[in-house]
Amino acid sequence: MNLNFSEAEVLFKEEVKSFLDSELTADLISAAKHTSAVFTEKDVAMEWQSKLVKKGWLVPSWPEEYGGTNWTETQKYIFSSECAKAGAPNLIPMGLAMIGPLLLGRGTKEQKDYYIPRIISGEDYWCQGYSEPGAGSDLASLQCRAVRQGDQYIINGTKIWTTHAHLANKIFCLVRTDNSGKKQQGITFLMLDMDQPGVKVEPILTMAQDHDFNQVVFTDAIANVKDRIGEENDGWSVAKYLLEFERSGGVGGSKSLSDIEFIRRLIDKIALTHNDKNFINPYMVKVAELEIKAQAIQYTSLRILSSIREGDSPGPESSMMKTLATDLEQEISELTLDVIGYYGIPFQDTSFGTNELAIGDETFRSIAGKYQNLRATTIYGGSNEIQRNIMAKAVLGL
Ligand SMILES: Cc1cc2nc3c(=O)[nH]c(=O)nc-3n(C[C@H](O)[C@H](O)[C@H](O)COP(=O)(O)OP(=O)(O)OC[C@H]3O[C@@H](n4cnc5c(N)ncnc54)[C@H](O)[C@@H]3O)c2cc1C
Repeated sequence: MNLNFSEAEVLFKEEVKSFLDSELTADLISAAKHTSAVFTEKDVAMEWQSKLVKKGWLVPSWPEEYGGTNWTETQKYIFSSECAKAGAPNLIPMGLAMIGPLLLGRGTKEQKDYYIPRIISGEDYWCQGYSEPGAGSDLASLQCRAVRQGDQYIINGTKIWTTHAHLANKIFCLVRTDNSGKKQQGITFLMLDMDQPGVKVEPILTMAQDHDFNQVVFTDAIANVKDRIGEENDGWSVAKYLLEFERSGGVGGSKSLSDIEFIRRLIDKIALTHNDKNFINPYMVKVAELEIKAQAIQYTSLRILSSIREGDSPGPESSMMKTLATDLEQEISELTLDVIGYYGIPFQDTSFGTNELAIGDETFRSIAGKYQNLRATTIYGGSNEIQRNIMAKAVLGL
């Protein structure tokens, strides 16, 4: 097997690097590094998004008519790994990695033509209304109710853990439209405006004091029938299709490799500061183990990506990738916290542009907050226990 890049691919890599050199500013890199929340701050992510839009590189995997680049899988890999290496901010997934691919796969032509350009430009900023106080892992138990009245649905109920609902102007929701059959039946997928009197957003703070998610209360909120994806009462199959994209998460591993490189630099810096060459010893085996896992995830996700064709969804492999990648992310954050020792204890302000001096080295600032917030990765998008159940059934046939 030839793992070397071709001459054209080497040239492409240079083109990506030179784009990153000119557009990925020190401020953007620093903001991405300091964020401890699960998602990048909206302003930071949108600034990076607008630069990618200008270059035409925001949504490489989408059909060309909707902004795709028609790149080969290798080009996509080069692009995402160079972005991770350079420390580019993560993009916000609700529009670009959830409702966007869903619209492309299951939306009507009118829905695609209207919504896709608005996702790309950032005019529409989306949040996801799946979970409810009584329906998380057992999502099909959801009770938020929608009743059809002419060309509209009237919605009443509560959604919870809705990430960035306080920043979004649009929400996609699963609602109950029928209670008569099995609980997976009678669910409908709707898109609606956040900015209307029937929608109230109540903040929930994380244990690192970040405001990422919310409770959203609908009281006679309105959705238009033309903003339904799929048929009425067929929302469960639409929801599952979207979750497979949410869980597969693009080319995994590149970000982890760059986080592992960060641990190496951190260890070297602490060893140098304390003039203690032996500081490095207890960490070497663990760093190597994590690196091997990250490489394995990277190659596996590339294999999966290359097997996805237009309109296909990733299937149960997405459960495997979600489990492996999020377990690894947590292991990396644990090791990073371990390396800085007592400096992980004080609360540090990680908000963008803060004037508060860091306790210890500036690079320590976001490590503890990140460690805490990353506990969420094995819960959201369907917990890892649920992913293992899916793999047991769909892959192992148990
Ligand atoms: C940071 C963050 C952001 C989120 N953002 C969103 C969002 O934007 N929109 C949205 O709709 N939701 C969001 N969620 C919610 C998320 O999808 C749910 O938290 C998740 O589905 C788990 O549901 P739950 O919290 O109700 O836990 P529960 O379902 O009550 O599960 C509790 C525990 O029991 C385990 N468990 C449950 N059932 C089984 C089973 N059958 N077998 C084995 N173990 C089981 C789970 O793995 C978990 O450990 C977010 C969550 C987090 C943490």
